[in-house]
Amino acid sequence: MAISQYDVAVIGGGPGGYPAAVRAAVLGKRVALVEADALGGECLNRGCIPTKVMLAASGLYRRMLGAAALGVVADNVRFDYGKILRNRAAIVSRLQSGIRQVLAALKVDVVKGVASFASPNELAVADESGRSLGIAFANAIIATGSSATRPPFLPESPRIVDSAGFLALDSLPASLIVIGGGAIGCEFATLAAQFGSAVTLVEQADSILPDIDDDARSLLLESFASLGVKVLTGATLGDVEADADGVYGCVGETEVYGDIMLVATGRRPRIEGLGLEAAGIVADNAGIPVDAQCRTSTANIFAVGDVTCGSPRLANWATMQGVVAAETIAGLKASCGEFIPSCVFTNPEIAVAGLTETMAARSGIAVRTAKGYFAWNGRALAEGEGRGFVKRVYDKDSGRLVGVEIAGPRASELIAQASVEICGNATPPHPTFSEVLFG
Ligand code: FAD
Repeated sequence: MAISQYDVAVIGGGPGGYPAAVRAAVLGKRVALVEADALGGECLNRGCIPTKVMLAASGLYRRMLGAAALGVVADNVRFDYGKILRNRAAIVSRLQSGIRQVLAALKVDVVKGVASFASPNELAVADESGRSLGIAFANAIIATGSSATRPPFLPESPRIVDSAGFLALDSLPASLIVIGGGAIGCEFATLAAQFGSAVTLVEQADSILPDIDDDARSLLLESFASLGVKVLTGATLGDVEADADGVYGCVGETEVYGDIMLVATGRRPRIEGLGLEAAGIVADNAGIPVDAQCRTSTANIFAVGDVTCGSPRLANWATMQGVVAAETIAGLKASCGEFIPSCVFTNPEIAVAGLTETMAARSGIAVRTAKGYFAWNGRALAEGEGRGFVKRVYDKDSGRLVGVEIAGPRASELIAQASVEICGNATPPHPTFSEVLFG
């Protein structure tokens, strides 16, 4: 087996891995990046970007249907789903080629194949033809991400899909059951309903999006109601069957039906087959534990992104960790921030930096809040988007700002500023226009 020597070997080319490779190369390291599939990872190929393309198109369609309220007459508004999918593929391909060019310019060797540890200093990489390549390294960064979970009671059927499976459909289902009221479930419910699908969202817990406050949730539920989304919470789905005509299930006494069922019940770290034992790395079902520098239990090996324990499973978190790991390897003093802003790209968008009232109450922190409303804002009214609010959350004793929650137009952009205000952390959510400011 041929063996090549590198300062840093990165496993996984998603938003954790490729920024780590870029930063390490900028800091003078000789870097190999091993990717089993497509550069950009889950985020670019099946996650953040494709969903935002679909949300943008379906949101525009809805706005055009309602344009008469602003005095603009748009008759016979339609959409071409095939064209939307082709536009999405073109955007993904353009961003992939940007990553490839940056890596090439920095002389990062991109190796296509599946990597596993042979020892704490060596990877074995199997390529598509079954050949094996050895990569010897001084330091490694594991950035292998996560994969969707699937409740075992669901039958196998092409009508029951995860988020990647939904994005691979070449037509819009007329009706959709979404299982899971987290960010991913709510975003898919939004995009499908905005296109006109009849959506039923089933969530086992008492409420969707458990970390946000009731007032933000109420706004989203109102919007779901206006789009015809049926939300069933505190509800266990059972008796699921699928046949040539559709997917059926029961939620208590209520029967639910969809052309497609989208499973959005969570994700698990991708650690199988990585040979972590051969490198002495401790891990369990929750992922790979790391410290504030992203170091694993093996001192020369780091882990970043969705594969790590306690990850919020956000691309901007993965990127921050990737950069911290690369800088630590290069001998710089770097450390992960306490939090990163997070967003749900529903309509209205909901964005949080630091603590919501709900999170503060759960942690026993006494807070007071102050609210401002988009209905008071001239720009929001001009755009016909006067619904929503900004809530500032202060520690009751010290008066310190500990959180901001925004439910309303451009929440995902506005939250970057709030994040700087709370802790000086300027990492914006992904994907947002605000990222342009940070290169
Ligand atoms: P990934 O992006 O999963 O990349 C891991 C890479 O490692 C993959 O390319 C994989 O092929 C490769 N790999 C795995 N094992 C091996 C191996 N043994 N050898 C070689 N390569 C390997 N987050 C946001 O911040 N904003 C959003 O709007 C957002 N939307 C999302 C929508 C959906 C539908 C989904 C599923 C996720 C979304 N996320 C979003 C979450 C975001 O995609 C992840 O947090 C992010 O991709 C994690 O980055 P990562 O680098 O850790 O892993």
